[in-house]
Amino acid sequence: MGASGKPLETDERIPVFQSAVKQLRDGNFDVEIPAEPLDAVGILGLELNRLAETLEQNFEETRKIQQIAEQLTSGLFLDDVLEKVFESFRTVIPYNRLGAAFLSDDKLQLTHYWGRSDAATVIIAPGYTAPMQGSSLQAVIETGKPRIINDLESYLAEHPESDSTRKVLAEGVLSSLTCPLIAHGKPIGLLFFSSFAKNTYQNVHQGVFLRLAVQLSLLVEKSRLYQQLFEVNQELLEARRILETQAMHDELTGLYNRRAIMNLLETRLSRARREGLPLSLLMIDIDFFKKINDGHGHHAGDRALRAVAARLNSCVRDYNRVGRYGGEEFLIVLDGEDAEVAEAIAERLRLSIADEALDDCGRRLHLTISVGVAMTPRVLELDPHQFIAVADQALYDAKQGGRNRVRVRRIV
Ligand code: GH3
Ligand code: MG
Ligand code: MG
Repeated sequence: MGASGKPLETDERIPVFQSAVKQLRDGNFDVEIPAEPLDAVGILGLELNRLAETLEQNFEETRKIQQIAEQLTSGLFLDDVLEKVFESFRTVIPYNRLGAAFLSDDKLQLTHYWGRSDAATVIIAPGYTAPMQGSSLQAVIETGKPRIINDLESYLAEHPESDSTRKVLAEGVLSSLTCPLIAHGKPIGLLFFSSFAKNTYQNVHQGVFLRLAVQLSLLVEKSRLYQQLFEVNQELLEARRILETQAMHDELTGLYNRRAIMNLLETRLSRARREGLPLSLLMIDIDFFKKINDGHGHHAGDRALRAVAARLNSCVRDYNRVGRYGGEEFLIVLDGEDAEVAEAIAERLRLSIADEALDDCGRRLHLTISVGVAMTPRVLELDPHQFIAVADQALYDAKQGGRNRVRVRRIV
């Protein structure tokens, strides 16, 4: 219609059409082209209006797809990527539930990996595995084309052998769109979009998925490899941590082993030297330990060693680590304030063993320890072995003095 409300003349209509087409070209789809009178030109106007509508729909769809593609790339791990798929695909495909399953390397098994549902009940859990052979999913994988089943109840009636259909029906799913994931031409798995209503899926949904399929498949594959790599790396880190712990600890007592306590002594010596601080070293030896082995057997000896180690360990502050220096000999490095009161600490340790019998499978075991203390108010040019030698001499003094006692040697 013209501005006056009267139908336009043909020669007036052409410039209106031209300007509308120009607007469409510029991406403005909100045009209304006059179809009246409905002659050949009017019909052309109608067609142009329809074209504007289709263009607008396609444009909108492309915009949504671009948006999804952008959102997807922000995920690094597979679970993040799938979570993003669940959040973002809703604008282009309807679903109440999304599942992802992957093919085994030999392509014979399909294992459910991940699922999100609007419903509380999820029956198909991660790890659910089904053979591919004879499954209708094989066709989806082989043709690379998404498959729609819009009435799963009827589908189950026709395919009563389909365990997975029975399970999704029990979750409330009535229609499904099954999409293959194909990366570098190699099928890797399937995405299952499912709806709680019948007849949810149309060709347009297949088309939308196909527009994103290549990018999504590559992303899934990449994030899956990344996740596997990450998990292997975590396992390696854990294995290394265990090995490091094992390498530092004595198997029988769980204390620092000789190497670890020597390292600790070296570290504490350097720090004390740097900061001009005192340092003390306790060398502890169980008295007449051979008698335990001789009288009760080697296993009883081992148990006694473990019990003594635990008691010594519980009597010192955590950072003054106790180490097993050898057979039934222990070393304790004391620094800072503890170094100044090393003799008192040594006495406390001696009493902790002497005053209370150890329990050995219900039998009371009376043991004593001798303690040699090497003390220095300032660490100068002292190396670990010299320091240990002084503690050893003090220990010898304690043994000579009658055992079950503490002897101190000061280094000045
Ligand atoms: P003292 O130190 O009072 O002079 O007498 P002792 O009997 O403790 O002295 P000695 O050093 O001669 O004996 C230590 C014994 O400790 C000898 C060895 O068989 C035993 N021993 C060392 N390591 C272990 C171990 O891991 N398990 C057991 N059961 N015994 C051990
Ligand atoms: Mg001994
Ligand atoms: Mg000994």
